[in-house]
Amino acid sequence: MSVVSIVKTDGNVEDGVKRAVELAGGIDIDSGETVLVKPNLSCAKPSGSGLVTSVEVISAMVKLVKDIGGKPIVGDLPIAGWDPQETYKITGVKKAVEKAGGQFIDFSKDETVTIQIPDAVKLKSVKLVRTALTADAIISLPVFKAHFFTGLTLCIKNLKGLTLQNQRQRMHVLGLFEPIIDLFSALKSKIIFGLVDGTVGCESIKPSGPYYGPTEGKPVKLDMVIAGKDLVAVDSVAAVTAGIKPKDMKILKIAYERGLGEIEDIEVRGDKVKPQKLKKTLFGRVMGSLNSVWTSRVANPVTHPLVKRLFGPQIESLRAVEKELEEVVPSRIVLAGECDNCGICVESCGVANIKLGKKGPIIGDKCLVCLICVESCPKQALAVKRVEEVSA
Ligand code: SF4
Ligand code: SF4
Repeated sequence: MSVVSIVKTDGNVEDGVKRAVELAGGIDIDSGETVLVKPNLSCAKPSGSGLVTSVEVISAMVKLVKDIGGKPIVGDLPIAGWDPQETYKITGVKKAVEKAGGQFIDFSKDETVTIQIPDAVKLKSVKLVRTALTADAIISLPVFKAHFFTGLTLCIKNLKGLTLQNQRQRMHVLGLFEPIIDLFSALKSKIIFGLVDGTVGCESIKPSGPYYGPTEGKPVKLDMVIAGKDLVAVDSVAAVTAGIKPKDMKILKIAYERGLGEIEDIEVRGDKVKPQKLKKTLFGRVMGSLNSVWTSRVANPVTHPLVKRLFGPQIESLRAVEKELEEVVPSRIVLAGECDNCGICVESCGVANIKLGKKGPIIGDKCLVCLICVESCPKQALAVKRVEEVSA
């Protein structure tokens, strides 16, 4: 059985992080070990926006690692298309880490190493920042954020930031889910802890219509952190608090089926939740505190906001979206916002399916619907359209 803690931070983030770690059984390191704290710094958005891990949570984890004798280092690489230096500046991460007594590593200047993953299902090799391999241990520290393709982005998906930006298009082309789990399995022996920053989460929902990217959204004050040693279990508890069954999240289902962690056999500890099995009680207790931000696709499959944001108000359920995504249909990607002709989407496309015209990108007919161009566009100008809308 895995143990996961949920702690309400209620204005005192440092205490909240400390208690969450203690309740989850603590962080096991030997004195002097280098611990890579890996936040989600996916884009140049400020701390507290719900789009990046907050500096309060990062600082609290850095202090904690230091207090137990570790050498905390912090680093991440944003999504392709987002400038690392601008991201580090706007998030305020470097200053916060150094103030807390840690060392910030600029991953954009780090050496790189290619690792082979012999047991991989899809990602047989991948290029990582060297620090991910030289650190003695890794702590995943994501923000609690909705994601158009994976439902939520949490501890496991956060590991993708350890790969080089140009590797991620390959991961998307290979199907994203299995490659992420391949990466997770390759690093698993080093990963000692995960903590989801739910102080401010992000629902990233538009009322209807096409989806515009994972780098904008509506911040939602949740005042909570979720922590544990088993990343699959931590993400499962976070998913349940968001009203999503872990088995309905492809990333978690695959991780569980590949024996990388628990999705049901979990003891949840916390301020308001007594030790108990996840399945029985957590949903009801925590949903109230989330102010119905996320709607369970199980409880409400017809009006799931994420689904509607992805494919417009006519769509019925996430299953319908998954079915649509399985069909490779050319020109599903459309220009739906203001484009400044930066060319980042052209660079990001792994199959050279985008050309830059006078009025922005022209999407060709070789599209694999990997959606990395949508994710990469800093202007959130690209969107996914339903098949009917494209052919209309
Ligand atoms: S759609 Fe326009 S703004 Fe967005 S990445 Fe492509 S060229 Fe840049
Ligand atoms: S155009 Fe298609 S294949 Fe190219 S990055 Fe966009 S979604 Fe992927």
